[in-house]
Formats: sequence, C-alpha cells, structure tokens
Amino acid sequence: MTESVANTEHAAGSVHPSGFLGADKPSYDDYARCVHCGLCLNHCPTYKLWGLEADSPRGRIRQMVLVDQGRLALGETFVKHIDQCLDCRACETACPSGVEYGKLVEAARAQIEQNYRRPFFSRLARDLVFRRLLPYPNRIAIVARALRLYQRSGLQWLARATGILHLFGLAERERLLPPIDRKFFFSRLGRTYPAVGPRRARVALFAGCIAQVSFSALHDATIRVLTANGCEVVVPAGQTCCGALAAHAKEYEELFGADTKDHAEAHAFRKKMRDATEFLSELGLSAPLASLPLRVTYQDSCHLLHGQKIREAPRKLMRAIPGVELVEMAMADYCCGSAGSYNVTETQTSLDILAEKMNHARATGAPVIVTANPGCLLQMRAGAKIHSTGQEVVHVIELLDRALAKNT
Ligand code: SF4
Ligand code: SF4
Repeated sequence: MTESVANTEHAAGSVHPSGFLGADKPSYDDYARCVHCGLCLNHCPTYKLWGLEADSPRGRIRQMVLVDQGRLALGETFVKHIDQCLDCRACETACPSGVEYGKLVEAARAQIEQNYRRPFFSRLARDLVFRRLLPYPNRIAIVARALRLYQRSGLQWLARATGILHLFGLAERERLLPPIDRKFFFSRLGRTYPAVGPRRARVALFAGCIAQVSFSALHDATIRVLTANGCEVVVPAGQTCCGALAAHAKEYEELFGADTKDHAEAHAFRKKMRDATEFLSELGLSAPLASLPLRVTYQDSCHLLHGQKIREAPRKLMRAIPGVELVEMAMADYCCGSAGSYNVTETQTSLDILAEKMNHARATGAPVIVTANPGCLLQMRAGAKIHSTGQEVVHVIELLDRALAKNT
C-alpha cells in the first residue's frame, strides 16, 4: 500500500469506529483471504496504466480494510480509488487465494452510495440515470428517440464540426454514444419464437435495457441462431432493467440477506441464467453452417471470462464455423475499458485502456474483431473508429448468424 493513502487519512494504530455503516459492507471473511502476494497486480488494467499500489487490487482491498478499521476515512481518496476500479474481476481470476474481489468492490460501492455525498452534478447524473431512467422502458425509449434524432438529423455532425461539445467537456463521451436503432426491441417483448425442427430446448431471452434500443439486430440474430438450433425462444413480457449498471453485475442473491427465502429464490434464478454462447456450446450446434472465409480475433468480455469463468465456449462456436480462422490477440483477457458505465464516468482512463487494446487488435491483422458483450461491442467499435484500424466488430452470435444466413 502506498504511503500516500495511509498518510493522508487517520494515523495507523488509533482506535476508531468502522467507516462502514449499515447494510452491504465488505466482510472480514472476504478481505481476510488476501495474503498480499501481489500476483494479481499485473493483471489489473489500472495498476498497469499508472503503476500505483492504491489503484491495484491489493491496494484497494487494503484501503477497504483501513476504512473498516476506522483508520482511513470513507472520503474522497477512498472513493476515487474505488471509482477508478473497472470491476473487471481480472484480479479474481489471477488470485491463488480465492479472493472474491468483485464481491468486495460491490460492497465498497454500496457503502459509498449510502455514506458518501458525491459532488452535486455527480449526484444529479447518477440519480437521473440509475433511478429515473434505467428502470423505466418508456423513458429509455423517449431518450433513445431524442438521441436518434440527434444522430440522424445532422445535429451530431454540427456539434462535432463546431467543437461545441468540447466547451461542455462532452466530446470524449459523445464519441462513445451507441448508435440508436430505427426500431426498438420492446415491440418483441411477450412473443414466443418456435424452434426450427424438433424442439431441443426452451429458453427465455433477457433483452436488457439499453440493448433494446441499440442492439435490436443482435437480439434478432440471437433468436434466429437459437431457433435454427432447435430452441423455442420466449421473450418474456414486462422485463425491465436488471440493475447491473447500478450494482455492476452483483451476484443476484447477494442483494438479499443470507438464509432468506429471497436469497434462495434469487440463487435458483441465477443458476438458470446462461450466456447464449455458453448455452449453445453446451447444447451443440445442429443447424448447418456455410463457409465463412474470415480471419477473426477475439476480445474476451470480462463478465464472461472473469465473472462467469467462460473462456472456451465462444471460441468453440467460432471455430465451428467452416472457414473462420481465429487469431488470438495479445492480452485478450484484459478489459477493453467499457466496464458497464465506466466509459462514461471515467472516460479518459477508459480511452487510455482502449488505445492499448486497439494496438493489440490491429497487430493480429484480422479484419474482424469478435466479442461477446454489447458494452464491449460499442467500445471496440468506437476504438476501431478512433484509431482507424479499419476493423469490423461483431458479436459471436452475429458471426454464427452470418454463416446460417449464407446457408439459407
Ligand atoms: S492475488 Fe489475491 S491474495 Fe494476492 S494480493 Fe491479489 S487479491 Fe491478495
Ligand atoms: S476489478 Fe479489474 S480494475 Fe479493479 S482491481 Fe481488479 S483487475 Fe483492477
């Protein structure tokens, strides 16, 4: 731990009440597993970027311990280092002691939300997005229509050309805006799509919130690929935001007290949740695929690799397409900088991480980058544009869909 963090706050050794109050705090049992070996450090994108212990997994855990012991204030310094964490969980994959870092940082963030007063504009933005926008599909649709108008009417071009966005400090964020669909996916909620041929499985499709206004084509491709492989696809009506952007993919049952009925039900529900690539890889592809002569490289999505520990399933699906040559990029297991809403809240860091990612992607010489998460897709597409790599960025399912389409 850098001296700077320890010295700016309370003197070590003094007895203070814990800085964590109320529900959801990092637990001793969890952080005590860290033996400070440092094996996680070189897997951490922020540590790699700045070389600061306070922005490493070990340093962040240490700060949580100090706050819990009342030796570091739950103040600006602590909040800054926790905010700067991508919650990519690469450190969790690297840790030989089984430290569940994701759980710790989610709890630290819950404490910050409960006990720290952010600056006015930060509070306002978080309140607007997390509480007043994301839980309401009709409001998402209204904002999306306004954004589409901005993107299609020439206003976007004008704003970029005049440099007015720089005046408001929005130029970098604006470059990461997702393109808004002409037709939203909301209209498909409540529908059931029959399996092609004998039914092998019945699945429910969770469409997300932002994905419903900017990834309708991907959802349609997912439905086509699943039905072609013998799955009946139900798109449940009334589905809304899962809260992942606010809680950043906190394991669902962790939101409820242990040993409660809700906890058990949430656990049972989570056990049913599968990524489409994981599910299809286990089920096995039955639909015939046409040859797709393409050199592709793959960017692991953190939620899949480090959260769900799924590395092979997407690769197996890509290799199943005749003609596809998969070239691994260096550091494919490092976050691309998207990380939920990180590219909006920590835009410059996100862009710095993205710049290195695009160097590795370009070095493969593959014209197509494949990934497995809408956030990564948006980030890598923006990266390909900003760094002029000329690469197309697609989802694994879209690649499968292309091979299917060529066959029909
Ligand atoms: S690898 Fe695990 S035990 Fe070692 S410092 Fe990192 S979090 Fe702690
Ligand atoms: S979650 Fe990612 S950014 Fe955060 S400490 Fe771990 S490796 Fe670093």
